[in-house]
Amino acid sequence: MIPFSPPRIDDKIINEIVAALKSGWITTGPRTKLFEKKLTEFTDAKAVLCVNSATAGLELLLRWFGVKEGDEVILPAYTYAATANVIVHCGAKPVFVDSNAHDFNISVEEIEKAITPRTKAIMPVDIAGLPCDYNEINALVRRVDIKSLFEPQTKEQEQLGRIMVLADAAHSLGGWYENKRTGNLTDITVFSFHAVKNLTTAEGGAVCLNLPLPFNNEEIYKYLCIKSLHGQNKDAFQKAKIGNCQYDIVEAGYKFNMTDIQAAMGLVEIDRYDNDMLIKRKSIFDKYTAAFINKKWAWLPVITNEIKETSYHVYLLRVRNIIEEQRDAIIEAIFKAEVAVNVHFIPLPMMTFYKKMGYSIDNYPVAYSNYACEISLPVYYDLTDEQTETVINVVCEAVEKVIY
Ligand SMILES: *Cc1c(COP(=O)(O)O)cnc(C)c1O
Repeated sequence: MIPFSPPRIDDKIINEIVAALKSGWITTGPRTKLFEKKLTEFTDAKAVLCVNSATAGLELLLRWFGVKEGDEVILPAYTYAATANVIVHCGAKPVFVDSNAHDFNISVEEIEKAITPRTKAIMPVDIAGLPCDYNEINALVRRVDIKSLFEPQTKEQEQLGRIMVLADAAHSLGGWYENKRTGNLTDITVFSFHAVKNLTTAEGGAVCLNLPLPFNNEEIYKYLCIKSLHGQNKDAFQKAKIGNCQYDIVEAGYKFNMTDIQAAMGLVEIDRYDNDMLIKRKSIFDKYTAAFINKKWAWLPVITNEIKETSYHVYLLRVRNIIEEQRDAIIEAIFKAEVAVNVHFIPLPMMTFYKKMGYSIDNYPVAYSNYACEISLPVYYDLTDEQTETVINVVCEAVEKVIY
């Protein structure tokens, strides 16, 4: 079986984890701080906080901004549950909007239609690694008529004076937009280092801060360190220093911190991300594109255009003019031929919990049609050229068997 997305575990990773274990310091400490510094350099963000998942990072920042019951947060219907669940955790209402047909990302036109005086944040998702239309989204939240709708209820909301843009960049570490990297494109960006993501620490995430003046991102970073560790004003590493065991609890914070064992993996991966991981992933994308470009049934994903470039996270192949049942039959045939593929994503209004909340997929026709004809192909470091060829052949055979 060719798996869908195994992590890259080699001797370098194993040796760094062993070194972290042998150092005697396994929770948040010097490796996490160094990983934060490397991520800051990589993304050019103003400050980066590592956390134990992207989900935690997204919730932490919604909480920081004071999102609560009675508020609304706009997000795409086409995303993973994490994006919406954190809004529910805060007691706010997820306001799903439809996608673009050309690239799977959230439609800016639909965002505009969904804004109300209750809207506190927008959570664009860089589906498959392709950055959303950040120029348009950033301009929209700054438009005078949109700003005048905004009703601030906390000090942070007052200071920002508009809707916050909280990017779910779980897929897009290393993507580009106008010569800038993801992590540096909007107010807040959150990455995921879950096991299937481009860069993994088994579980983990990072929050990139780029809030405009009068915010001080360094100060907010320091506050978020406290907020993500029980509201405790010193972490365990600081407390372990001589004469430093006194501490205070300044609020009922969360337990969202990253461990140094996770950071050990991240440090190996970030150093070889640009010049090794992304090159390999791009070469797999290029092989898929070369193979499918002449197939009449194939609808190729947007990988790059004048202003953006993907992080080559997942290859979202669409098959033209098929219905959901045909797509499922194709996937079954692919699995029978020992290749694992996936669907990114089942839109959230199709999920039991969100259906029960009253959402209906009928209101998101583009998200549905993107989903119904989509097949995600394997892309990962250890996928060999021969295996890539096998995936291509198996996919073509399966599609052509079902549609002709
Ligand atoms: C993986 C993923 C997340 C969640 O990341 P975790 O680190 O597992 O919390 C959030 N959003 C999207 C779109 C994802 O694919």
